[in-house]
Amino acid sequence: MGKLLSWVVLALLVYVAYRLVVVSKRRAERARAAAQTHRGDEATRPGQAVGERMVACAHCGVYLPATEALEADGHPYCSPAHRTAGPRAGA
Ligand SMILES: [Zn+2]
Repeated sequence: MGKLLSWVVLALLVYVAYRLVVVSKRRAERARAAAQTHRGDEATRPGQAVGERMVACAHCGVYLPATEALEADGHPYCSPAHRTAGPRAGA
């Protein structure tokens, strides 16, 4: 009976050790994945910001990517309505 109990204890210890390894491995993988996604975010966001030049609408002053701005008389505008309205008075 004592021998059986020691086998049960040994099996339990092995199981606990196995669980610890699995959990720590999973935790490390999750941390690595989180770090990768985080690094990926940081890598793409500044790249987009640097690649896209921002301009301010000459009428309302809202900032938009230069590629989406409507140009008229050398001024960028955010919309056809603001391009028609022209530069804001005093600006
Ligand atoms: Zn505007």
